[in-house]
Amino acid sequence: MLKIGCHLSSSKGYEAMGKEALKIGANTFQFFTRNPRGGAAKAIDESDVERFLKLASENGIDTILAHAPYTLNACAADEGLREFARNTMADDLQRMEYTPGNYYNFHPGSHVKQGVDVGIEYISGMLNEILRPEQKTTVLLETMAGKGSEVGRTFEEIRAILDRVELSGHMGVCLDTCHIWDGGYDIVTNLDAVLQEFDNVIGMERLKAVHLNDSLNPLSAHKDRHAKIGEGCIGNEALIQVINHPLLRELPFYLETPNDIDGYAKEIAFLKENYKETE
Ligand code: FE
Ligand code: FE
Ligand code: ZN
Repeated sequence: MLKIGCHLSSSKGYEAMGKEALKIGANTFQFFTRNPRGGAAKAIDESDVERFLKLASENGIDTILAHAPYTLNACAADEGLREFARNTMADDLQRMEYTPGNYYNFHPGSHVKQGVDVGIEYISGMLNEILRPEQKTTVLLETMAGKGSEVGRTFEEIRAILDRVELSGHMGVCLDTCHIWDGGYDIVTNLDAVLQEFDNVIGMERLKAVHLNDSLNPLSAHKDRHAKIGEGCIGNEALIQVINHPLLRELPFYLETPNDIDGYAKEIAFLKENYKETE
């Protein structure tokens, strides 16, 4: 069965997200742990979490994906900003333990003229400070479009971060179709070769989740502007290949397309219709 969901607002809590997911035909979802621009997170409401966990287990919702605020920059030049990133992520990871066994995704960061090697050192250094042996959450590095000085455009950069993380058993990768396309990986005409390269450089076993987005821009644009499914330069045919690919089809897919909730429901229905059940 296709594991599919979309980005949902977390402002009403976990149970509300679970109900909204079910309403639009999703069996998973993504959410921000706090305001995407940063700031304090609401305290965890334990009874809300309990109701959510019950709803989720009764209705087959699993593998939820928390997304870190995108302002968080683990490799900023400013020490205060790096400290903010570290404290925010450490706090988020503690909160994630209320819903054990799920994923926490973050953008590696922007090295802002320090160079990609310095960026990689800061990012892995931060992870080494905050990962805990006993944690039940897997932390995912998101593949990036390479806008500005973003780290994580190439599979090699992702690999270099993973190589420096001591508790790397708690680490995985989230592949964003818009980002890798903008980053120069041709998933439209060469999906097999791109996945082969991912496997050679990072290892397919690290791939835990896919952000399923179309892109407003052509291959290698380094822009990062998402389009609705089938309304961008990637197109329906390639995205349908992505969800059905033998190496990807069992993974959870999360839509981050520019949609309201009805738009998401339509995209989810469309993708389910085009998913080839194997049994
Ligand atoms: Fe992201
Ligand atoms: Fe993404
Ligand atoms: Zn993006």
